[in-house]
Amino acid sequence: MFVNNIPYKTYLAESEIPNAWYNLRADMKVKPAPLLNPGTGKPLTAEELTPIFCEELVKQELDNDTRFFPIPKEILDFYKMYRPSPLVRAYCLEKVLDTPARIYYKFEGNNTSGSHKLNSAIAQAYYAKQQGLKGVTTETGAGQWGTALSMACAYLGLDCKVFMVKVSYEQKPFRREVMRTYGASVTPSPSMETEIGKKILAEHPGTTGSLGCAISEAVEVAVKNPGYRYVLGSVLNQVLLHQSIIGLEAKAAFDKIGVRPDVIIGCAGGGSNLGGLIAPFMGEKLRGEADYRIIAVEPASCPSFTRGKFAYDFCDTGMICPLAKMYTLGSGFIPSPNHAGGLRFHGMSTVLSQLYHDGLMEARAVEQTSVFEAAELFARSEGILPAPESSHAIRVAIDEALKCRETGEEKDILFGLTGTGYFDLKAYEQFNDGKMTDYIPTDEDLAKGFAGLPKIDA
Ligand SMILES: *Cc1c(COP(=O)(O)O)cnc(C)c1O
Repeated sequence: MFVNNIPYKTYLAESEIPNAWYNLRADMKVKPAPLLNPGTGKPLTAEELTPIFCEELVKQELDNDTRFFPIPKEILDFYKMYRPSPLVRAYCLEKVLDTPARIYYKFEGNNTSGSHKLNSAIAQAYYAKQQGLKGVTTETGAGQWGTALSMACAYLGLDCKVFMVKVSYEQKPFRREVMRTYGASVTPSPSMETEIGKKILAEHPGTTGSLGCAISEAVEVAVKNPGYRYVLGSVLNQVLLHQSIIGLEAKAAFDKIGVRPDVIIGCAGGGSNLGGLIAPFMGEKLRGEADYRIIAVEPASCPSFTRGKFAYDFCDTGMICPLAKMYTLGSGFIPSPNHAGGLRFHGMSTVLSQLYHDGLMEARAVEQTSVFEAAELFARSEGILPAPESSHAIRVAIDEALKCRETGEEKDILFGLTGTGYFDLKAYEQFNDGKMTDYIPTDEDLAKGFAGLPKIDA
C-alpha cells in the first residue's frame, strides 16, 4: 500500500540487509567502564572470561575499538528467514491521534520467538557451534530469550539448557512448552541442580525466584560442565552489537525514503533493543554528523535509569558474575509482584549507562496502566498486539505525538516495536478486567537495594 508515494512498509531488499554489525563503542569518547572480577576488583581479562563465554563472543565483548564486525554468512542466511524486518509508517495511529507528527515503528515481532532476541540468539549459538561446544546454558524470565535461544540451538543442533524463573515456569506454561518443543531442557529456578540454587532455597524456602538467581544457576552449570558455555540475551556489549542490525536496517530504510527521524524511542530492560536501534544514529551524534533526541523508556516499578545509581554492581543475585558499572537498583532489588510487563532487570547495559550519564540520551519512567492503555490504542489502530515491554515505547511515542498536536510540529518519530504480546494475555486480562494497578517503589524500598551495592571505588 502506498500513501503519498511513501511505502506503507519500508522493506529493504534481501541484498540490502547490512552485512556487518556496528560497534557503537568505537565512536564513544568516554568508553563504558570495564567489567571487573568480583574477587580481585581488577578489569576482567579474556582468559578469565573464556571459561564462561565463547571465545569469539569474549573478543566482541572486550573490543571497544573495532567499528564493524562482518556478519558470518551462516548468520546472514538465518537472518534472511525473517529479515529485513518491516519499518512501518503508523498512518492509522497518526489519524487516531490527530497529530501532525509522522510515526514510524521498526517491528521485530515477525518471527516465531516473537521478539528481537533472535538476532543475538542465532549469533551466540553460531559462535558456540564454531568453537565445537556441545551446548549452552542460560536463564529466562518470561521466556522470550529462552524461546529465541532454543530456536537458534535447534537450527544448529546444539544442546540448550534453560533456567526459568520459577514463578514464570509455573504461571507461563506456554513459552515453556515452546522451548521444550524446540528441544531445550527447562528447569525452574532456583533448583536443586546447582550449589547456588540449593543455597538460595535453604535461605529462602518457597521463593519464586528471580532473574539474578537464574543467571547464577546457569553460569554455575556452564562452568562445571565441559563443552558448555553461558549465553545471555541482554545487557552485554556483544548483545548490543548483534542487535545493531535493527538500527542499521532502520537507517538504511530511512535513507532510502529520505527521512531523518527527530526522536528515537525504545523500551529499556537490559538495553539490548534500544542499544541496537539507536546504534547508527547515536554513532552520527557522537561523531557530530547529526543530532537525534533519544528516549529510553522503563517501568516506573523498576526505574534503573531514572532513579537508580550509576555504580559498580553485580549482574546476578548470587554475586558470582562480573561487576558492571551501570545504572542499577542493586542486585537484591525485586520488582513488586503486581508488575506485569517485563523489563524487570535491576541493572542496565554499561554502554547505555555511560551514554545516559554523559547526557547523550534521555530516560522516562511510565506506569503500567498507562502502558496498557497505549497498547490497546495501538492494537486497535495498527492491528498488531504489542508485547507489554514494547508498549512502554508506544506510550512515549504517543505522548510525543500528542505534544506535536499541541505545538503543530511535524516531527518524525521512530520507536522500536520489539515484539508481540500473544503470551502476555494474563496481563492483558488484568487490564481488560480493570484489575491492573500501579506500584511505584518508595525511596525506602529503593534504599534496601542500594544498601547491597558492593563498595568499589573505580
Ligand atoms: C527482552 C525484551 C525486551 C527488553 O530487553 P532489552 O534487552 O532491554 O531490549 C523488550 N521487548 C521484548 C519483546 C523483549 O522480549
